[in-house]
Amino acid sequence: MTSTRTPARPAVSSVDPAAVSALAAALRGHVFTPDTPGYDQARTIWNAMIDKRPAVIARCASAADVQHAVRFAREQGLEIAVWGGGHNIAGSALVDGGLVLDLSGMKSVRVDPARRTAVVEPGVTLSEFDHDAQAFGLATPVGINSTTGIAGLTLGGGFGWLSRTYGMTVDNLRSADVITVSGDFVRASERENADLFWGLRGGGGNFGIVTAFEFGLHPVGPQVMAGLIVHPFADANALLRRYREVSLAAPKELSAWVVMRKAPPLPFLPADVHGTEVVVIAVLYSGDMQAGERAIAPLRAIGKPIADVVSPHPYAGFQAAFDPLLAPGARNYWKTHDFAPLGDDALDIAIDAARRLPGPQCEVFLAQMGGAVRDTAEGATAYSGRNADWIANVHARWTDAAEDEKCIGWARRLFTDLTPHATGTAYVNFMTQEEGARVETAYGAHYGRLAALKKKYDPSNVLRSNQNITPAL
Ligand SMILES: Cc1cc2nc3c(=O)[nH]c(=O)nc-3n(C[C@H](O)[C@H](O)[C@H](O)COP(=O)(O)OP(=O)(O)OC[C@H]3O[C@@H](n4cnc5c(N)ncnc54)[C@H](O)[C@@H]3O)c2cc1C
Repeated sequence: MTSTRTPARPAVSSVDPAAVSALAAALRGHVFTPDTPGYDQARTIWNAMIDKRPAVIARCASAADVQHAVRFAREQGLEIAVWGGGHNIAGSALVDGGLVLDLSGMKSVRVDPARRTAVVEPGVTLSEFDHDAQAFGLATPVGINSTTGIAGLTLGGGFGWLSRTYGMTVDNLRSADVITVSGDFVRASERENADLFWGLRGGGGNFGIVTAFEFGLHPVGPQVMAGLIVHPFADANALLRRYREVSLAAPKELSAWVVMRKAPPLPFLPADVHGTEVVVIAVLYSGDMQAGERAIAPLRAIGKPIADVVSPHPYAGFQAAFDPLLAPGARNYWKTHDFAPLGDDALDIAIDAARRLPGPQCEVFLAQMGGAVRDTAEGATAYSGRNADWIANVHARWTDAAEDEKCIGWARRLFTDLTPHATGTAYVNFMTQEEGARVETAYGAHYGRLAALKKKYDPSNVLRSNQNITPAL
């Protein structure tokens, strides 16, 4: 994998400067090119391994700006990449030599508390969404790192602490405003352009540019029972088998996820544990506090934890609890699998890899799925992983480019060792830029239908900076 910043790369712009000036004049937002001040900052995303040089970055302020920029790209024959929150591990928010539609400044959230819906623009981050919805005591399932963009997360499927209770993020999507690659505006919902609406819900941003998402919301919090139970790594074998048994029997309001990593210097952990391998069970119960205490009790009774800091937390605060460990600017390489079931062999392989962590920020992460994720029929949306009991993310994270080979090698080896034990589908939002033929398998049985839809909405594959679906012949 090419990974380091490469200043020697040739300049990118073969784009007509007069056309760029016309675009800049047409937008309410701002245009960056390689010779514009701020260009390097404007092409910096969450994953520091990604170094791409777009010809033009159009920081759009509205759907009208998106239309102008899409038509500009078509006239100039440019590939388009779409930037929502800029978090995608594969760096798909950027494209070498093409046009980036940077939607990160489009940040409106309009909550309708009576209808329990929110209309959300594509530059909104999860913390911004939670902030505005929680003001009305409402929420919908979104991910666990609050600086992630809601746009990319939703289009790949989207899951988080509330998914076992209320489904995938896409299960809560009511409609979307879309600008097609021709620059036309269409609305997608169960009633309008239902085929497009199906594809938006898990098809990974392949079909058009979403300028507004309408979500259904649920009463959540503001306080929830949540926190961490931290165990010594030496107990991992027995602990994880018991965790698996208990969490499979848990009510759908409870999510219990596992992280194996070296302990960060958290104040509630004894100093001699810092920097040593631990098993963390992270939990959130989305309903009544006392029912939460009862539901979490069997997990708390497993083994002899080093620390148990499960207690009432503000929901929005817990949504940001892991942010310090996931700040932008580090080098990141991920590999992912779906598991159903999560067998003993897979657990043993994961535990063995966690014994060989290549760095203090690397981790093996197991997100428990099931519950309400299965209330929506497989095939009702493009998201392909509804059968998964767990999604595993092998997360290599480090700061020094000299460690690229070591950290990437560790992640790849664990991924390969786990492959025979996984389902074959994969969460497209956790995939890197070099997955090759695996992309088709990741979309599972839906790939043929997705390819036909791609042919209808993007026959020239202008939107290919994503986990790409090739237009059907
Ligand atoms: C630290 C971290 C934690 C995460 N945790 C979770 C989690 O708990 N649950 C979960 O589900 N995911 C999680 N993810 C994965 C996350 O869902 C993806 O990285 C997602 O792509 C991020 O969306 P974004 O808008 O920030 O990314 P971007 O990089 O801006 O966009 C990613 C891709 O989405 C598409 N896209 C974005 N916006 C639009 C749009 N408006 N119209 C059309 N296409 C668009 C484009 O193809 C784009 O390349 C996490 C990611 C990180 C980095």
